[in-house]
Amino acid sequence: MNAFESPSRPAPQLSAIRDHFPILAQTVHGKPLVYLDNAATTQKPLAVLDAMRAFELRDYANIHRGVHALSQRATDAFEAAREKVAAFVHARSADEIVFVRGATEAINLVAQSYTRPRLQPGDEVLVTAMEHHADIVPWQMVCDATGAKLRVAPIRDDGALDLQALPELLGPRTRMLAVTHVSNVLGTVNDVASVAQLAHARGVPVLVDGAQAVAHLPVDVQALGCDFYVFSGHKLYGPTGIGVLWGRAEMLAAMPPYQGGGDMIRSVSFERTTYADPPTRFEAGTPHITGAVGLAAAIDFVQGLGWDAIAQHERTLLERAQSTLSRIPGLRIYGTVPDKIGVISFNIDGLHAHDLGTIADAEGVAIRAGHHCAMPLMKRYGVAAMARSSLGVYNKEDDIDALVRAVRKAQVMFA
Ligand code: PLP
Repeated sequence: MNAFESPSRPAPQLSAIRDHFPILAQTVHGKPLVYLDNAATTQKPLAVLDAMRAFELRDYANIHRGVHALSQRATDAFEAAREKVAAFVHARSADEIVFVRGATEAINLVAQSYTRPRLQPGDEVLVTAMEHHADIVPWQMVCDATGAKLRVAPIRDDGALDLQALPELLGPRTRMLAVTHVSNVLGTVNDVASVAQLAHARGVPVLVDGAQAVAHLPVDVQALGCDFYVFSGHKLYGPTGIGVLWGRAEMLAAMPPYQGGGDMIRSVSFERTTYADPPTRFEAGTPHITGAVGLAAAIDFVQGLGWDAIAQHERTLLERAQSTLSRIPGLRIYGTVPDKIGVISFNIDGLHAHDLGTIADAEGVAIRAGHHCAMPLMKRYGVAAMARSSLGVYNKEDDIDALVRAVRKAQVMFA
């Protein structure tokens, strides 16, 4: 068996999905674990762990540089993973796939390498009010360095992006629009294709943050019509430390390297260094080789489940969660648009989100409480924190019921 062939394991079925995630079969504080923190990171199925272990046990070596057999096998596995990612997002070619550490690094790469050299004082970068800090701070940094301004597209109370406000905000000085595909707080699925059309009509390139989208819906970068698309492996049932920047070939070709070092060069002398073509140009140093193998296995895993099955399962759970939670007096759910994925952020009158999270933990229910790396969005809703429950393929109706029981218990304790 080659490194890039997954070890044999029966195709996953949603009905028996939890067998693929041994981590879920444990108790926490004496209660069965209910893992509802999937927007922060997803758990890894055995297929991903097996693929990484098999690779490390047989084929691991450094890539691209060796003439020996292991190095060639490792290189083949790494490049096969790139091909898999390219097909996963419908890229035109694997050369449009840059491996990075995660969504954060991908956005920093584009901000520094594509946008910064194109910014003059008074130019603008447009983001939306629902962005994660990873899609705010890198743009702020390049604006600060160049005298450009960060502008913000508003959202409506229900958590939808205000598309009507966009045309006015896309001015002659706008040099980049960065928008999340799916909000990590509201669950809103943005109509990225329409946003890209509006931006392109004004000559503005578009970066889409797909960190919260890739585990829940199929992505076709060509149909979306964006210029850059980024995501992290660890929110797609894959490992941490590996992520993806997809860039349109002509955009990547027009970008200087982000970091210098081994592997990204064509030739080096003390007088002059020339750089490799993309994607290698952007992959200085030894990458997370095993991570790429794990990411490829994660893609196989979700595709084996099928998007329709995933969407239907998560939709059923989302509806159960929203309808039961919203019956709790004093509970407010943020993000109520119909087109949303399984992220449910909420607050309860008189109860701090952190207390809620702590009491839920004591019941074995893992949710997140805080600003969710979206402080401006918290401000938009006039709160410092929210509790957030987020779904994955392995969640079940009992998980939702356990969440609701934990929330009720917290409410009684703090009444
Ligand atoms: N964008 C969104 C919408 C996210 O939810 C996250 C992580 O929570 C990120 C970007 C950053 O991802 P990472 O920390 O894997 O780079």
